Amino acid sequence: MTPLFPRLLLATGNQGKLVELTRILEAGQVKVELVSLAEFPGAPDVRETGATFAENALLKARAMAEFTGLPAVADDSGLCVDALNGMPGVLSARWSGKHGDDAANLWLVLGQLADVPDERRGAHFACTAALVLPSGREHLTEGIVQGRLIHEPRGENGFGYDPIFVPDAAELTRLPDGLASPGLTTAQMSPEAKDRISHRGKALRALAPIIAAVVNSDSVTDR
Ligand code: IMP
Repeated sequence: MTPLFPRLLLATGNQGKLVELTRILEAGQVKVELVSLAEFPGAPDVRETGATFAENALLKARAMAEFTGLPAVADDSGLCVDALNGMPGVLSARWSGKHGDDAANLWLVLGQLADVPDERRGAHFACTAALVLPSGREHLTEGIVQGRLIHEPRGENGFGYDPIFVPDAAELTRLPDGLASPGLTTAQMSPEAKDRISHRGKALRALAPIIAAVVNSDSVTDR
């Protein structure tokens, strides 16, 4: 049966990202059928060997567009700490040496910053989202959220470095009253509030109109 809308693959095994992108595309009235990697059991595991978020996002999106024959979206993100010259950056997920050990990564950064005073604890989360079409056309968008790192973890929501990251007050102006509480870490914010200001939310929202324009109009010529 021919699908009602063009199919778009989200190249991640992360269910949370799938839910977030679905919400963003629906809000932007982007008419695509979002499919996950779970529908492609033999998909290759792409190693993130790039030196930048853009390179890694493109590595994943290119590999999955080629494997599935579908337009593919992938993202790569991380924490960039001023006092660490922008690191851990693309190494955020494996900063302590073990991929995905969020607690060890967070405590290592806190240890490295132990003697760094508040005025030099600036940091930002960054995300690059890539859309790759089977024809080879590529589009990149970026999102950043500025903030600072506190000295002890606070909050149970989110993941990764959220418990030590407090977004700048200027980032909260996008939030409706009631959701904006200055001084909270992103692990103390509701998922809804974090989505609205997050690096990933910004990059994916910037990609939504491109998906609408490119996937819908090019899907016929791309197949
Ligand atoms: P990836 O983009 O899913 O590969 O994430 C890379 C790593 O960056 C994660 O494992 C986290 O350590 C960190 N990171 C990325 N986005 C966030 C976030 O929104 N909150 C906390 N940590 C994040």
